Amino acid sequence: MKAAVVTEFNAPLEIEEIDIPTPGVGEVLIRLETCGLCHTDIHAAHGDWPVKPTLPFIPGHEGVGIVEALGPNVTDRVIGERVAIPWLGFACGECRYCIDGRETLCEQQQNSGYSVNGAFAEYAVASARFVIPVPAGISALDAAPLTCAGVTTYKALRVANIVPTENVAVFGIGGLGHLAVQYARIMGATVIGVDIEDEKLDLARELGAEFTVNAAKLDPVDAIAELGGADVALVLAASPKVFEQAFASLKRGGRLICVALPAEGTMSIPIFETVLKGISIIGSIVGTRQDVAEVFALHLAGKTKVIAETRTLEQVNTAMAEVLSSTVPARLVFQF
Ligand code: NAD
Ligand code: ZN
Ligand code: ZN
Repeated sequence: MKAAVVTEFNAPLEIEEIDIPTPGVGEVLIRLETCGLCHTDIHAAHGDWPVKPTLPFIPGHEGVGIVEALGPNVTDRVIGERVAIPWLGFACGECRYCIDGRETLCEQQQNSGYSVNGAFAEYAVASARFVIPVPAGISALDAAPLTCAGVTTYKALRVANIVPTENVAVFGIGGLGHLAVQYARIMGATVIGVDIEDEKLDLARELGAEFTVNAAKLDPVDAIAELGGADVALVLAASPKVFEQAFASLKRGGRLICVALPAEGTMSIPIFETVLKGISIIGSIVGTRQDVAEVFALHLAGKTKVIAETRTLEQVNTAMAEVLSSTVPARLVFQF
């Protein structure tokens, strides 16, 4: 099978011909139809984060495909079923976090395309329990971005505890942001989209943002203050400066929801304002299998729209460059 492999950090991925993997106990073999390109895959290929993947590895955690074979002891999946391979590739099912509904915090977790091989390949093996059925009626092209960009922003806004009528500022209208705008609207918020590209802001307005701010032209803190400030600021752009702007745009009682994962990983937050204004700073990591199912259900009900363009796996390196240059209309998805 063909796979895009990271053999060295910060080097182009290599398209390699490798053996189709065999599903082990509790695993399924999936023939991929699509896989979205998340900015996380770029961080992974660059070795941006403190915990690095072991080289060589295959990225990709927005995989969608058909179950082609079952490993031993798999009873909950059937051959021919369409499933998604999310970032949460495995969790233990028994720890405090797994049993209280926070499986994405499991310390035994495996992450697709990071600690285990992912879906930038024609085939992948994955835990039968952690792949998620894709409802008939959702295309493989739409399902891919929902599997990470969708669930991550849906969950991040759920933990923000939005009250309808609150202002939600979404910083970064990329793969994640274009879905965040829609979920914030569904939750009843007034949405302020912030990006540095006018095309992204046009898209944010088309998807329901009432206000937009081009942070390359205006100071977003001032612009959001003129709109009365943000109750929730969702950070989806991978730059510490944006976290600080998002913090500064909050009203009293505001919530800073940290989602992006920049390589330079510290932000400077004033303690005095945090305390006096009663601000919450919350980290949010992807979502549970149930969150993914809810994201799929919303899409099936016609409440969300996925904006994506397809690329071939051979285009992986130019596709990553396109994402980094912010010229992509929301998501790029590899089609096999
Ligand atoms: P993306 O590249 O598609 O989107 C980023 C957007 O930010 C782009 O539209 C870009 O134009 C915009 N941007 C860049 N600089 C900006 C600035 N100064 N102000 C405002 N906007 C700016 O990336 P993505 O795939 O949406 O991922 C975003 C981040 O979220 C990445 O760091 C990724 O690793 C992280 N992520 C986190 C989780 C999680 O569970 N916490 C899940 C998925 C992705
Ligand atoms: Zn992702
Ligand atoms: Zn666990």
